[in-house]
Amino acid sequence: MKFTDFGFDQRLMDGIDASGYENATPVQEQVIPLIMAGKDVIASAQTGTGKTAAFLLPLINKIITDPHEDHTNNALVIVPTRELAIQIAQHMEGLSYFTSVSSIAVYGGGDGNAFVQEKKALSQGADVVICTPGKMMAHIKMGYVKLAGLKYLVLDEADRMLDMGFYDDIMFIIDNLPKKRQNLLFSATMPFKIREMARKILHQPEEINISISKPNEKIIQSAFIVYDNQKIPLVKHLLGKTEFKSVLIFCSSKINVKQLTRDLKRAKFLADEIHSDLDQEKREDVLLQFKSGRLPILVATDILSRGIDIDNIELVINYDVPHDGEDYVHRIGRTARAAADGTAYTFVSVKEQRKFLGIEKLLGKPVPKAQMPEELGETPTYNVLQSNNHTGNKRFKKPRRFYNKSNK
Ligand code: AMP
Repeated sequence: MKFTDFGFDQRLMDGIDASGYENATPVQEQVIPLIMAGKDVIASAQTGTGKTAAFLLPLINKIITDPHEDHTNNALVIVPTRELAIQIAQHMEGLSYFTSVSSIAVYGGGDGNAFVQEKKALSQGADVVICTPGKMMAHIKMGYVKLAGLKYLVLDEADRMLDMGFYDDIMFIIDNLPKKRQNLLFSATMPFKIREMARKILHQPEEINISISKPNEKIIQSAFIVYDNQKIPLVKHLLGKTEFKSVLIFCSSKINVKQLTRDLKRAKFLADEIHSDLDQEKREDVLLQFKSGRLPILVATDILSRGIDIDNIELVINYDVPHDGEDYVHRIGRTARAAADGTAYTFVSVKEQRKFLGIEKLLGKPVPKAQMPEELGETPTYNVLQSNNHTGNKRFKKPRRFYNKSNK
């Protein structure tokens, strides 16, 4: 699903484009329309699914387009840790870059300056306040936080907040909010105590459950951190090293599929391509050759990543990083089917590093990094901040303390 389908304001669309998002993730696809329609939502979604943007995007859109009081805090996002508060504030800054929506992160451990800045913002009213429970409670107790016009409450990583003993702090904050508001609760797990809390806080919530499948344990996964121009030489190197009977290579675009296939054919590899520019007959023919073992190397777009049953694929190469964790699991799941083992390599260029980190987060562990053959040259380091700079994206400048567009 494209972001244009949500009917967002153009200024928000500009922020989405600048953040490099093309398609909505499954959690975004399900949650955004509900939030836009004003519903309360309880969603079980892990980090890495795109859950942050799933609530920030509709909130920003509502704040831009719905009439609201100026001198009030509009939305409160309560999170368990200062790291998460900073991360969400960074997301917020990027996505709202072309709007006049203001935001501030409020978390413990700061100095006197931070406190003064927080006090000023909370007493004037910021559009979006991202806070840890203890620090927010301390501010509220001092009496200057403008909450009378607050319309949106988000509890993020609610299970972690309860594990950390924040229940009373959260309930104190909520007791100080207007009763009429939209509530959103995100939690990786849904134990009884979360449901109990949800029952007290949410009003007739819609329930969303995004569970990600895990890759088969038998697949040996590794990633090469590369520059773009090293990808083709690396494919040739890997294919030349061992005589594979069945290799499936995924690219994210038809252009890459065509270019890589051309290069492999020129280098005398038995390779062919499959993508949506081919007619049905040609596609079936290529697939049949691959399935029967006559064609050992098939280069494909994502049309082959789901559902298609081909056994005995020894190696899957993600020539480009897949769109999201679910696609990654589906693509590498083409190997190690039935009783066989399989290998999956992913090539991660500098501008794809952030996306790959998101996938690793979703998998719950890093994918081991493979050593680049020496003759193919120096490689970049795996450094997500560096990759952001390469996209030319303004949103990732290192924050000192978050206080965005406070003097609106
Ligand atoms: P989260 O689950 O919110 O921690 O997001 C995980 C990562 O996915 C973050 O690096 C986001 O910037 C990124 N992300 C979120 N939504 C999208 C999207 N629609 N397309 C690409 N990346 C996304």
